[in-house]
Amino acid sequence: KMKNNGRQKESNVMVAVRVRPLNEAEKEKREQSVVFCPDKHNLQVSQVGRDRLFSFDTVLGPNNSQEDVFEACQVKRLVAMATQGYSCTVFAFGQTGSGKTYTITGPHSVFQEGPHGLQSHGLIQRCLSHLVQVCSTGGGVSLQASYLEIYNEQVQDLLEPRTHCPLAVRGSRTRGFRVENLTLVEFCSVDDFTKLLGEGQRKRRTSSHLQNERSSRGHAILTVYVTTQAVGVDGGGATKGKLSLVDLAGSERVKDTGCKAELLEETGNINRSLLTLGKCIAALVDAKGRDRHIPYRDSKLTKLLSDSLGGTGLTLMIACVSPTASSLPETLNTLYYSSQAR
Ligand code: ADP
Ligand code: MG
Repeated sequence: KMKNNGRQKESNVMVAVRVRPLNEAEKEKREQSVVFCPDKHNLQVSQVGRDRLFSFDTVLGPNNSQEDVFEACQVKRLVAMATQGYSCTVFAFGQTGSGKTYTITGPHSVFQEGPHGLQSHGLIQRCLSHLVQVCSTGGGVSLQASYLEIYNEQVQDLLEPRTHCPLAVRGSRTRGFRVENLTLVEFCSVDDFTKLLGEGQRKRRTSSHLQNERSSRGHAILTVYVTTQAVGVDGGGATKGKLSLVDLAGSERVKDTGCKAELLEETGNINRSLLTLGKCIAALVDAKGRDRHIPYRDSKLTKLLSDSLGGTGLTLMIACVSPTASSLPETLNTLYYSSQAR
């Protein structure tokens, strides 16, 4: 079960913030950047007559590359831990348009090779290629993956786009929660796997507008299961670790009161998952390894991630923010939410 790696006393949640560059439209409107990165650990938000300073484990600015994110956030460490039997998670959190999908997946919401090439690859491709490397060195390591979306508190299989009915989540805190009938695919090359993901997403796609709407309201979770056959042990003895990469719903819904009646339930459900995630992380940080009630059961998202969040693995939260003055209220919202995780 859980391994003791001697680091229970420190928090196993790391929090990073990433500020995206101004885009062309913002530059044209002569929008000003109000978010600055004085050094690797501090973020400065400047309004007229007022500066606020926030500190994080890692701060990435508009000039930092996808590779910088992978390196500075020590994502390699999470990958290595997954191969050693731990459960690790990376979240991207922030308002719609702040760079969550860019960070997790890359510039395309669908997995495809664009004109950008390798250097634009997001964390998913980088983690997968590291894992595939580990596999290819032998040692009886095998990789499987699942990809799902939680939309309106319903779980949809993104690898099996033909099944439209939501999948059931069963289990308990002690046995762990699992999604019934979830598709697991075994893979040994990054290309094979990203092709599969791309196909799955394209088949589901109705219109790109609807797709964007949906992705800003749903949580997408890619999980890689790493099974290592222990060498020299007769029968059994396999370690099972996993790494989840989560592109969360836009956080602006957290306080969106929503006047449209049909959106009300949906908004409430998005609120539920994000608010519960915040509560769980805050409770875990506060508990620092001591026994304490963590409200995993209050949402699908936290149920599915309870083993990663509550285990001895690592959780990395990347708060994504826009640099503009007009995004400031949402940016502050994101910074307050993520600083409670430290
Ligand atoms: P979100 O998923 O949070 O809604 P996106 O990842 O879709 O936001 O980012 C919004 C837009 O900004 C996209 O066109 C994306 O390619 C671009 N973008 C985001 N972050 C960066 C970055 N660090 N560098 C360059 N472009 C970025
Ligand atoms: Mg997105």
